[in-house]
Amino acid sequence: MNLIGHFINGQNVSDHVRTQAVFNPATGQATKEVALAGKQTVEQAIAAAQHAFPEWRNTPVIKRARVMFRFKELLEKNADEICRLIGEEHGKILHDAAGELQRGIENVEYACGAPEFLKGEFSKNAGPNIDSWSEFQPLGVVAGITPFNFPAMVPLWMYPMAIVCGNCFILKPSERDPSSTLFIAQLLKEAGLPDGVMNVVNGDKEAVDTLLHDPRIQAVSFVGSTPIAEYIYSTAAANGKRCQALGGAKNHAIVMPDADLDNVVNSLLGAAFGSSGERCMALSVAVAVGDEVAEQLIERMQVAMQGLKVGVYSEMSNDFGPVITQQHKEKVVGYIDSAEQQGAKIVVDGRHLQPAGYEQGFFVGATLIDQVTAEMTSYQEEIFGPVLQVMRVQSMEQAMQLINDHEYGNGTCIYTRDGEAARYFTDHIMVGMVGINVPLPVPVAYHSFGGWKRSLFGDLYAYGPDGVRFYTRRKTITQRWPSANVREGAQFSMPTLN
Ligand code: NAD
Repeated sequence: MNLIGHFINGQNVSDHVRTQAVFNPATGQATKEVALAGKQTVEQAIAAAQHAFPEWRNTPVIKRARVMFRFKELLEKNADEICRLIGEEHGKILHDAAGELQRGIENVEYACGAPEFLKGEFSKNAGPNIDSWSEFQPLGVVAGITPFNFPAMVPLWMYPMAIVCGNCFILKPSERDPSSTLFIAQLLKEAGLPDGVMNVVNGDKEAVDTLLHDPRIQAVSFVGSTPIAEYIYSTAAANGKRCQALGGAKNHAIVMPDADLDNVVNSLLGAAFGSSGERCMALSVAVAVGDEVAEQLIERMQVAMQGLKVGVYSEMSNDFGPVITQQHKEKVVGYIDSAEQQGAKIVVDGRHLQPAGYEQGFFVGATLIDQVTAEMTSYQEEIFGPVLQVMRVQSMEQAMQLINDHEYGNGTCIYTRDGEAARYFTDHIMVGMVGINVPLPVPVAYHSFGGWKRSLFGDLYAYGPDGVRFYTRRKTITQRWPSANVREGAQFSMPTLN
């Protein structure tokens, strides 16, 4: 069976001591094995990165940016192969994989602007004959730990920016779908990146813990579920590292009485069920303002959901594919069971879907649940599957209260034609990324991505301007060159310009 190894110091490295099966979720078959790096392998990667750092740090920024230009071209040239690898191990349909990759490439494009955004700040005559400037220096060796659901895009949020800023990088991708991540990282060598600047170690908790405890790692970026994000943040901080840890979500859409319901239905279909709901920005709760809105929404969703096509990644007419593993399928089905047991009404039931020819695949069909309340487990926890829950409230204030009371605050959306209501919503909602008639308000690469509350641990968002700040540290230099023949007395008071 094909063994997926590591990429260290520009070489493919394999470490067979422990391995884990990688599945094709559409067929349910284990098709590959991924190596799980032990402490020694991770330390080998850290040593390679540490060795490469002094030279890479001193490489002129325009040359670092040129590597990113070539990398972008290689990503575009190899897009079909990358999307195939994503589809084969993640299960998402090729059109969705292409969208993910394109969003990732946009982060590479932003990184190409490094000569501009690393220019620093300069003040002439900050004092008499004194100039002062701030520059943004790289941190050293930094690490990224990423989830299964965007094996191309989420790593691309991290290392292009880290590397173009002059850092060296160790990436620990998800062990559930590692091939596309590894393949993409290897393209950097072809783009001209010196060996050791970018390294990939596949693995699990053992690899992650080695990164978290090694004093040579200066900063850790994490994206994944909230319990792990919290663990990563607290462990990294206790070990003196800078950390940003993005976690899980429960994204609500408020449907106002004046919304255009046909557009809302189309918009919700993609946002709730696209990528099998395995997106941290998936809309998983529709909050209908008024019973009439709820009734109409349910009725139209029910009809529209009959047209959804679920199946294998390579069939472009499919709308979405399987979930990632059998275990995850059972978890999603368990949440639907729990909603039913706790009094909700299953309007469209996807628990028993078995697409023809793919009976062993990890499929869950699109599911619509009505009469959901805030006490239900399926509402309180992240399902991460193709399940849309409908809640009913009588006012926009009640809808906003629900959202603000939830432990997560990643994304949200309001459907309305009322500008005043939308403006009030954007101002007062306790969520990091907000859409107005935009169901997946994923910020573009030149803004930054992050949630509020327990959807993000740390101060800085991912990518964009916050990414530059995360992967650099400011140094401020104050300088003067006094004339050799001028003598000054000692000055004991705090220097001022008075
Ligand atoms: P996960 O938390 O299970 O895994 C994420 C990473 O952490 C993986 O690389 C995994 O190997 C590692 N990991 C898992 N358990 C660990 C442990 N005990 N100790 C150390 N490391 C460990 O997440 P997942 O299932 O791969 O991804 C889905 C989750 O990611 C969802 O909760 C989703 O909302 C979230 N997510 C969030 C964002 C965001 O930007 N906020 C984006 C994508 C996904």
